[in-house]
Amino acid sequence: MKELVGSCKCCGKDIYCLDGFFNGVITDDKQTYCFDCQGAISKETENPQG
Ligand SMILES: [Zn+2]
Repeated sequence: MKELVGSCKCCGKDIYCLDGFFNGVITDDKQTYCFDCQGAISKETENPQG
């Protein structure tokens, strides 16, 4: 199953949920991003685990 969840707020790419696997990320602000853009964002926020 492939379910459209939303689109990346950064590049506009469609984000899908594939068999329970989410093809992107949702931020605390309920914004959806693809993995490419999320990587750039998490770099800014400096995740202490990173
Ligand atoms: Zn993106």
